[in-house]
Amino acid sequence: MLQDWLAASNYTVIFTGAGMSTESGLPDFRSANGLWRKKDPSQLATTEALNHNVHEFVEFYRDRVLGIKKYGPHKGHKILADWEKKQLIHSIITQNVDGFHTEAGSIRVAELHGTLQTLHCQLCNKKYSSEKYVDEDFICECGGMLRPSIILFGESLPEDAFNMAFEEAQKAELFIVLGSSLSVSPANQFPLIAKESGAKLVIINEEQTDYDIYADLVIHKRKIGEVLKEIDSMLRES
Ligand SMILES: [Zn+2]
Repeated sequence: MLQDWLAASNYTVIFTGAGMSTESGLPDFRSANGLWRKKDPSQLATTEALNHNVHEFVEFYRDRVLGIKKYGPHKGHKILADWEKKQLIHSIITQNVDGFHTEAGSIRVAELHGTLQTLHCQLCNKKYSSEKYVDEDFICECGGMLRPSIILFGESLPEDAFNMAFEEAQKAELFIVLGSSLSVSPANQFPLIAKESGAKLVIINEEQTDYDIYADLVIHKRKIGEVLKEIDSMLRES
């Protein structure tokens, strides 16, 4: 059924969450390292921590940067990049900060929570590869401090990504959620915006979500990569 909807839709938008990343093997940062389990991320992932406790802040993000360097896009990410080339899908809205969609070759990606692939200077905004954190280097050539290009606690979503996601959700004829419990606001409003704008809504997630009642199709307890691979082979056969 989903492959028919995908083939028939003139504008398909994908929305991805943590479940997409965990299939790459990337551990959730809360369980990644016992050391951080005792820390409250809402205390650590803040500009307050960057400005007053920079060594601990950098150490925390250094572990997460090492995580995304160690793991990479899986089959599911690659299928989505391929589908974009074939214009089967038109964009991806993601809550993930690992940058795996871009790494897999996807072009039109709205990274709602930013990306861990880059750092930028708090003072002059100059961009750097997050490789610098691996070397525990966090000072810009202007003397400012480098922070990851993700949203920290209390910060609002990046305007460009938010606006793009909003427009894409409105344009969608088919909107497919992959691996998100849709519990984080305001990102979770996009499936409903799509639905209200007339899109068919599909939710593929390990567990039930509060938005399942609005969906035209719900798939639970399946690996996203496998579902995408199945659809991809059905599309190739037809
Ligand atoms: Zn600077």
